[in-house]
Amino acid sequence: MALIHNLGFPRIGKQRELKFALEGYWAGKLSRAELESCGKTLRAQHWQAQQDLDLVPVGDFAWYDQVLTLSATLGVIPARHRQGDIELDTLFRTARGRSSQSSEANGCCAHQSESAASEMTKWFDTNYHYLVPEFELEQNFALGYHQLVEEITEALALGVKAKPVLIGPLTYLWLGKFTQPEHNTTEHKLALLEKLLPVYRQLLNAIAKTGVTWVQIDEPILALDLPAAWQQAFESTYHQLQIRELNILLANYFGPLGANLSTAIQLPVAGLHIDAVRGAEELPRLLDRLSPHKVLSVGIIDGRNIWATDCDKALATLAPALEQLGERLWLAPSCSLLHVPYDLALEKNIAADVQPWLAFATQKLQELTLLRAALQQPNAALIKEKLAHGRRIQTARVESSRVHNPAVQARLKNLTPAAAARQSPFATRISAQQQRLKLPLLPTTSIGSFPQTSEIRNARKLYKQGKLTSKEYTQLMQSEIRKAIHIQEEIDLDVLVHGEAERNDMVEYFGEQLEGFIFSQYGWVQSYGSRCVKPPIIVGDISRPKAMTVDWACYAQSLSKKPVKGMLTGPITMLCWSFVRDDQPRSATALQLALAIRDEVSDLETAGIHIIQIDEPALREGLPLLKKDWPAYLDWATHAFRVSSSSVADSTQIHTHMCYAEFNDIIEAISALDADVITLETSRSNMELLNAFEHFAYPNQIGPGVYDIHSPNQPDQQWVSNLIEKAARKIPLNNLWVNPDCGLKTRTWDETKAALATMVLATKQLRAQL
Ligand code: GLN
Ligand code: ZN
Repeated sequence: MALIHNLGFPRIGKQRELKFALEGYWAGKLSRAELESCGKTLRAQHWQAQQDLDLVPVGDFAWYDQVLTLSATLGVIPARHRQGDIELDTLFRTARGRSSQSSEANGCCAHQSESAASEMTKWFDTNYHYLVPEFELEQNFALGYHQLVEEITEALALGVKAKPVLIGPLTYLWLGKFTQPEHNTTEHKLALLEKLLPVYRQLLNAIAKTGVTWVQIDEPILALDLPAAWQQAFESTYHQLQIRELNILLANYFGPLGANLSTAIQLPVAGLHIDAVRGAEELPRLLDRLSPHKVLSVGIIDGRNIWATDCDKALATLAPALEQLGERLWLAPSCSLLHVPYDLALEKNIAADVQPWLAFATQKLQELTLLRAALQQPNAALIKEKLAHGRRIQTARVESSRVHNPAVQARLKNLTPAAAARQSPFATRISAQQQRLKLPLLPTTSIGSFPQTSEIRNARKLYKQGKLTSKEYTQLMQSEIRKAIHIQEEIDLDVLVHGEAERNDMVEYFGEQLEGFIFSQYGWVQSYGSRCVKPPIIVGDISRPKAMTVDWACYAQSLSKKPVKGMLTGPITMLCWSFVRDDQPRSATALQLALAIRDEVSDLETAGIHIIQIDEPALREGLPLLKKDWPAYLDWATHAFRVSSSSVADSTQIHTHMCYAEFNDIIEAISALDADVITLETSRSNMELLNAFEHFAYPNQIGPGVYDIHSPNQPDQQWVSNLIEKAARKIPLNNLWVNPDCGLKTRTWDETKAALATMVLATKQLRAQL
């Protein structure tokens, strides 16, 4: 009874073997055969690691991205990348373009260059990015690539109890786009279904031929608000996908089924998987309505976070399901384990009391085994002992002084509404700021970081290894700051930055200096392709023992008469790019982060820094999947930002930066941040993205990016002037700043100097004409 299975396993490898093999292959240092053999070894290892399960996912491996693999399988490869048969290099060309260039995996800048790579976007509300399928007007589908069936055969030959996993046709179409923007509507995409389904049927027939009996078909769009036509399409789709001898487990995850519950529960499939972490409240309703022959796979273990499961709580949730379903109850993680790191056992530096609080992918599968055992033999001594051990760990976490800091909690409780508001309205503030700063019309600035050269990275590495003293390291960083200030003065920018040389990453840098964060050594999670991020872990109440950036900022300011911007990461970005606590709402964690940043803002101001930028590139990606949940999120998120930024005098100017630019639907929230200046990414959209600000009559100042920092191409002066003029038709001139799209850390110094000089020149010529 109670079969256990998994929806997907991390594919990158314990030591990121796949990353290094891919990058070696792309650089021409590894042969195709060597790359393929690396993949094969990893798959075998990952299946081996899951051998205690009754069903093991196959098809969760991908050379670049699982959506791209499916596109190839269905023959959906953009014409510009088709050259003969679809094979491995076709996938790489589609993903990386022809002259693809790298960009740092800082979570927000995962853009393609001007090369013709397919677009990438976030996989639901995770930090994983998939390749968006590109549909043509007359899109046809045909089985063109056979990785899935080959891997099933490979797994079966190894004796793996294989359960193929496949993204469902409706989710696939939903995630794709038509290249002709005027054609790209949900109706047109749905109209492709008729042509797509026969190909899915062929694929399922090929899968059935391998001899497997179950296939998991993922339809996570069931966790979204769906148009009625899409909802209705499910029934006939799954009717047409019925294949004798192949049982379909239809999987939803990342949220409750919500308005799609009735649709999902009636589908002609053999089983349904639900996310019982985010949608536990639906379980009773599902049990009521599940037809008597269907399997219910309960995703009871959190696949999106790294905390050890509270087994008592899980067993209490499962008890009624077991009673009703018996053998038809399956247990699983809530979603694929792609979104958590591989194995906690690799970690050597996590404090001994904290380590047992955590569970990475490998540990989550052990928890699954334990839960099943506890359901089967609740009275077995060994199991009771294991459960008691888990209970002691949960209690230790609840009671730990690492988690609870009474001073932080008192501060949160005593927070007044005044803490979230500047002293005066924008109009008053801006004149006080102008009096002090005396900036010209169209002030020029940059977003914060300057090139992270190999010398800088090397110095940081040596310092971490103890091979450089703190004094030596400080001197090296100071010389980088001197260089950055000198170059900016020479280019004649108006507002300078220190360049962020000392920062490895915009969240980790702060997390390392705050109480409440811990860091793993190998906790890598795939972000896209070969890129991984290692999110910090927020374990306890956040506080700031001492100033984090003041010395660097003051040093930079001491070198110039021009204002130097202080540079901080905002509370929502720190939240979104970390693994967060599951024992308090996200909003509470955000507010704690906000208070820590507020203290830093005050210290910077006291130290004589009069412009302070608080970056929030992740504000938009924190949006919940369901529209109904947006207002509450935007409310606490903007409140947290204001708490972080509102301690200052009217004459201190607060900037924020966001590196994307879809603002239409959140413009009110952007306005509620009440930042004096916001810098954005707009160059690639030709300033179209400013329309939201224009229509809203956004009152504060804006710096729309006037060149694309993701491309090594030099911006042309005329092009930059045109963009500024275009922006000036949408935004009052007095409110307009001139700056690049985003930070410059991935560029070279030569590129940076030339591009900024062009930008300043274009601005000066425009000023002269005014
Ligand atoms: N200040 C940061 C930088 O310039 C901002 C980066 C970002 O928006 N992701 O690098
Ligand atoms: Zn940015």
